[in-house]
Amino acid sequence: MPQTTPPPVELFRIRDTLLAGTSFLLTSHARPDGDSLGSQLALADALRQLGKQVRIINRDPRPELYAFLPGVSMIEIAASVDDPFDAVVTLECSTLDRAGVDGLEGHRLINIDHHAGNAMYGALNWHDESACACAEQVFDLIEALGAHLTPAMATHIYVAILTDTGSFRHANITARTFEICRRLAETGMNPAGVAAQVYNNGTIGRLRLTGMLLDQMQLEHDQRVAVLTLSDAMLSESGCEPDDLEGVVNLPLAARDVRAVIFLKTGDDGLKVSLRSKDSVDVRRVAVSFGGGGHANAAGCTVEHPTAETRGQLIALVAAAVADGDR
Ligand code: 5GP
Ligand code: MN
Repeated sequence: MPQTTPPPVELFRIRDTLLAGTSFLLTSHARPDGDSLGSQLALADALRQLGKQVRIINRDPRPELYAFLPGVSMIEIAASVDDPFDAVVTLECSTLDRAGVDGLEGHRLINIDHHAGNAMYGALNWHDESACACAEQVFDLIEALGAHLTPAMATHIYVAILTDTGSFRHANITARTFEICRRLAETGMNPAGVAAQVYNNGTIGRLRLTGMLLDQMQLEHDQRVAVLTLSDAMLSESGCEPDDLEGVVNLPLAARDVRAVIFLKTGDDGLKVSLRSKDSVDVRRVAVSFGGGGHANAAGCTVEHPTAETRGQLIALVAAAVADGDR
């Protein structure tokens, strides 16, 4: 693998710890996405290949769209763990509480993440913001472990990269991203088949719901900020689950004028906010100001107790981020 910078020392420390131990727990953030699922499943396969005992525990089930991922049904859903492990690997968690699983604190933690602002809470911390997906780091780790890259592992990593780069559109894609994808394709993994599963396998209900959301889209600040609001009525009319909406947040970016998108949906935990932006518009700072995080072009937060002002505050902050980004 061509490496523009030397591999980080932390990668080898993690490799040594994994090779020395026998039982591991892998976890990732609540409401898993393609990168969190793909990263966990690929690493689990590699460790099992090396004879390790591996469990994956997530707080929330996978969105239906990822049901095709090999081995995804082996992911256990639980709100807490109390079993012993030689180490717990957290993937994609900038803070430990992102996992939403209780009982992780007491374990030897291996923190592997590519989000800005990682809190370095692990015994070992490998934080690489230049990775377009956490699965890029997992690819390197699998190679360092000496595991054989199978088509199933390649599928996991490809799904992670495809979805975390917004289908190869985000600014954090590098030559390395394509080099990894080349290696993935070499295993016989089918990139077109994966794209069809991810993008062409939704329900008619999802298509109708997408129509309703776009129909009721609000445009603010000279059409530079688009706001999509998911209502319960839309869900019942379309027969969709909120889970079915993965990726819809990106659609308004197709319009030239739109610089950032705010997607709002009310759930059990409060108001879930997804933010997306183009180019140098940094919406992560808006998410951070509400206790969330993410990346400059894709961030999110949950406002536990939204007020009548919350929506207006979000729009104003995103508009300010747009103005700063476009300065
Ligand atoms: P999404 O909008 O798809 O839920 O998330 C976009 C990005 O922001 C992802 O990288 C996700 O991990 C991150 N993100 C979403 N919600 C939160 C949150 O509440 N806290 C933090 N730290 N990151 C979040
Ligand atoms: Mn990611």
